[in-house]
Amino acid sequence: MSSYDYQLFVIGGGSGGVRAARVASGLGARVAIAENFRYGGTCVIRGCVPKKLLVYASHFAEDFADAQGFGWTVPAVQFSWPKLIAAKNNEIARLSSIYENNLRGSKVEVMHGAARILDAHTVEINGKQVTAEHILVATGGAPFVPHIPGVEHAITSNEVFDLPQLPKRVLIVGGGYIAVEFAGILNGLGAHVTLCYRGEQVLRGFDDDVRAHLHQEMSKKGISILLHQDVERIEKVSDGSLSVGLTGSQATPLAVDAVLYATGRVPNTQGLGLAELGVALDSSGGVKVDAFGKTNIDSIHAVGDVTHRIALTPVAIREGAALANTLFGPTPVSADLTTLPSAVFSQPPLGTVGLTEAQALAQAGEIDIYSSNFRNMRHTLSGRDERTLIKLIVDTASQRVLGAHMVGADSPEIIQGLAVAIRMGATKADFDATVALHPSAAEEFVTLRDKVTRNRND
Ligand code: NDP
Repeated sequence: MSSYDYQLFVIGGGSGGVRAARVASGLGARVAIAENFRYGGTCVIRGCVPKKLLVYASHFAEDFADAQGFGWTVPAVQFSWPKLIAAKNNEIARLSSIYENNLRGSKVEVMHGAARILDAHTVEINGKQVTAEHILVATGGAPFVPHIPGVEHAITSNEVFDLPQLPKRVLIVGGGYIAVEFAGILNGLGAHVTLCYRGEQVLRGFDDDVRAHLHQEMSKKGISILLHQDVERIEKVSDGSLSVGLTGSQATPLAVDAVLYATGRVPNTQGLGLAELGVALDSSGGVKVDAFGKTNIDSIHAVGDVTHRIALTPVAIREGAALANTLFGPTPVSADLTTLPSAVFSQPPLGTVGLTEAQALAQAGEIDIYSSNFRNMRHTLSGRDERTLIKLIVDTASQRVLGAHMVGADSPEIIQGLAVAIRMGATKADFDATVALHPSAAEEFVTLRDKVTRNRND
């Protein structure tokens, strides 16, 4: 029996920390967890969950319009941002208390307060020192905002969920997940949205065809996307609005009511005592860990966004469970993140699993590319000019499917299913042999015939 107060002390009550704490406790360890904000972390409090609720809310605008093509007469509709935010807040409070209750139900000691590591086995919380055989840092990340004049007038994803009113005109800075998702949300709810991105196309790192297709579909919905542009300065105008000067070819400043920065996130490692203790951090402050979540100090570990690798909730959950099993289970476990599916809840949404065309070409040398660009059946009657893109990338030599990508309604739901098959090594012949489910958009994935073969040396 260890002489420490706890066998595991977890700092951070988000997805990774909570999973590690509960699994460790289930394996018989004495566990405590500390959270200085609200249990649930970024995902539950101001990330995935409230974001998805807002995506649902914003999509009703199109649903009401589309209904008319199906014989419905929709009376004038009204939207109340304060009502939506209040409903969202209720749901978040419910989920946060479920997180706490689940921890207590798993016999984890739940603490509220900011914890600080004093040495390899000692943590200070609320003026009290406690000892632990192992300490897990699972403190997540926070929005990064570059220094530009007037940036104090901007908001981030932390504030956007609780604005008192929906701004009429919004400039979103950045071209990543959050920028693209909030462009769709705010546009759907009725704001006039401009997205300004410094690069050549939104969603760097995703498949190029997918990026171009989403850009096109977002533009059709009225979102103005400015590429090769960055913000130079933000000034507050006497009427309370903001004037934004851009660095690119856009000569006249933009007049908006809010500027939302979505320019990435940085790990929450300040004030934890990590640097003082000599815990190795990367250049952005992320905690460096080995494949098992261990830092350069044997008793200190880290999982999730604070490690500044893949900032996705299911990844943090996997890492948290793997760490608990490594420390208290029979054998060390490393989170298997191969064939990782992910989605961008843009409008239309994007789902992806496996390699992009560029990655597959670099890795496999020769690939077969199958794609289809079509109008969903729903829009034959709605009349909406929205097109779906699906794309399958196959290794020419082995015929294994290396990647599947989709931009269109329900793509995250469809890609999750395909991820199982692709992870198991499905070939194009396996897709072809699978009977289509008709009528659906997903059936396109098993009826693809025309291919383009590309060789790295061409
Ligand atoms: P991303 O890393 O996805 O995107 C950041 C964007 O900001 C990029 O377009 C980047 O440009 C741009 N950028 C970075 N620094 C600057 C700068 N100094 N000036 C101007 N532009 C800049 O970060 P997000 O903030 O959108 O999201 C954070 C993470 O959270 C994501 O990476 C993802 O892991 C996770 N997330 C996941 C979601 C999901 O699963 N659906 C939803 C939301 C977030 P460039 O491309 O040139 O680097």
